[in-house]
Amino acid sequence: MDTVNDKQMLLRALPKVDEFLRWLLFDDGGISAEMHKRQWLSADCEKAPLFLVKKAVRETVAASRQAVLDGKVSDVATLTHDALFADLQRRLALMMQPNFRTLINASGVVIHTNMGRSLLPESAMQGILQVGRCYSNLEFDLKTGKRGSRYSLVEEILCELTGAEAALVVNNNAAAVLLVLGTLAEGREVIVSRGQLVEIGGSFRIPEVMKKSGACLVEVGATNRTHLRDYEGAISADTALLLKVHTSNYRMIGFTSEVPLSEMVALGAKHGIPVMEDLGSGSLVDLTRCGLAKEPTVREVVASGADVVTFSGDKLLGGPQAGLIIGRKAIIDRIKKNPLNRALRIDKFTLAGLEGVLRLYGDERQAMRSIPTLAMLSATRQEIGKRAARLKRLVQKPLAGKCLVELCDTESRVGGGALPEQALPSRALSLRPLTVSVNALEEGLRRLSLPIIGRIENEAMLLDLRTVSDLEIQPLAHGVLDFFSTLSAEKG
Ligand SMILES: *Cc1c(COP(=O)(O)O)cnc(C)c1O
Repeated sequence: MDTVNDKQMLLRALPKVDEFLRWLLFDDGGISAEMHKRQWLSADCEKAPLFLVKKAVRETVAASRQAVLDGKVSDVATLTHDALFADLQRRLALMMQPNFRTLINASGVVIHTNMGRSLLPESAMQGILQVGRCYSNLEFDLKTGKRGSRYSLVEEILCELTGAEAALVVNNNAAAVLLVLGTLAEGREVIVSRGQLVEIGGSFRIPEVMKKSGACLVEVGATNRTHLRDYEGAISADTALLLKVHTSNYRMIGFTSEVPLSEMVALGAKHGIPVMEDLGSGSLVDLTRCGLAKEPTVREVVASGADVVTFSGDKLLGGPQAGLIIGRKAIIDRIKKNPLNRALRIDKFTLAGLEGVLRLYGDERQAMRSIPTLAMLSATRQEIGKRAARLKRLVQKPLAGKCLVELCDTESRVGGGALPEQALPSRALSLRPLTVSVNALEEGLRRLSLPIIGRIENEAMLLDLRTVSDLEIQPLAHGVLDFFSTLSAEKG
C-alpha cells in the first residue's frame, strides 16, 4: 500500500532522459554544448561523442528505475541530476575505454594465449611503428623497381637461423599447417601417429585441419605407442606425406613410444615421400640453459632431415603472431604458388615485427636479454624475488589491517605450445584479504581499468612477478591499493 505509493512517487521523480541530457549539455545560460561538456565531465569523458553521452544517460536512468522497482531506493534526493551524475560519469568512462586494452599478467604463465602470447622487443616495436606511419617496400623490389615479394623480406634471415633452404611466413601456425597439407597432399594420403592427433586451443585439431586441407588422414599405431613398421605398413601409392606433430599441450607418460624424426626421414627417403614436422612452438635457441627440458631447436629439426617444418611466431620464438614454414626449396616454391597462400598471408606490421625479432637472434646472448619471452623464461628466482620484494614494500603498510601481505615461493609455467607443463621456480606476492573473500579480490583486480590477472592458490591471491616487468610494478601496486581503497570507501 504505502510502499506502492512510495514507489510511484519515486518513479515519477526519476529524471527524464532528454531533460537529463539538456541539464548536462545546455543548462548554463549561453556557453556552447562542447564547452559545457568539458566543464562537467572528467578528462577521460570529455572526448565522448554525443551518442555515447546519450547512451550513458539512458543507462543511468534505466538503472535507477530498476533500483526503485527493486526497492533499493527510498529517498528522492538520490534521484536528482546531481545525485546521478557520478553514476553517469562512471558509465561513460567505461564506454570510453577501448574494448581491446592492456593488462598486467601476474599469472606467471609466460606464453599465455588468452593474454596475447608474446610481448615484442622494443626494436621490433619501432619497426612496426615505422611501417605504420610511412610507405614501405612491402612488395616493391628496390633493386629492379618492379613488384617484389613480401616473403623475401625475412626469407634469408630465416634460412640463416635455421639452416633451411627456403622459407615462407603466413598468418599463424594453424594456417601454415593447412597450407602445407593442402599443397603437398590434397586428394592424397598423410600418415600420422594416433598419439599425435592433438587438439591445440579451441579449434585446431589435426584431423579436422587435415580434412579442410583436402588431404586424407591415415592413422597408424596405438594411442600410446607407434613404431616405424606402423608407418611403413601404411605407405601406399597414394601416400603424399609423413607427418609428425609435436604433442605440445599434452604429454604421455608410462608405456609409450614415438618414432624419432630421423627414422621417419630415412623411411620417407626410401619411398620418395617427404616428411613434415608441425613443431608448434619451435625454439631458435636451446632452452635447457633456462632449466627447461630438452626440446630440439628448429635448426636441429632441419638438420634431422625434415623436408618441411612449421612453427608459430608468437610462442617460444617470442615474436608476433605468424606461421613460419621452412624447408626444401622445391617444396616451399610449390607452397608459394598455392592460391590459398594469398588468403593466409601476413600483414606488414607482422613482417616488421618478425624481422625485428629475428634480427636479434643474430647474437644469442642479446636475444636472451632483449626478447621478452626469452628474458622472462630465463629470469632467475633471485631476480624475480627482487621485484616481488619491491612490490611488497609498496603495498604492505597501506594494506595493514586490510590484507595479509607475504612473499612466497611459487612455480611459473611456460604456457602455450611446447613445454606447457614445465614449471619454473618463481617468487610471488601472496595477498589474503581480511574483509572480503579472495574471489572478490581476484574479481576486483580483474575489473580495474588496468586489469591485474593473478591466480588463486591455497585461498590466497598470488601475483607471480616472473611475467611482470620492472615498469609494471608501480602500476601493479597502485591497482592493488585502488581496489582496497574503493572497498573501504564503499564500507564507510
Ligand atoms: C600452437 C600450435 C599450433 C597452432 O599454432 P598457432 O600459431 O596458434 O596457429 C599448431 N600445432 C602445434 C603443434 C602447436 O603447438
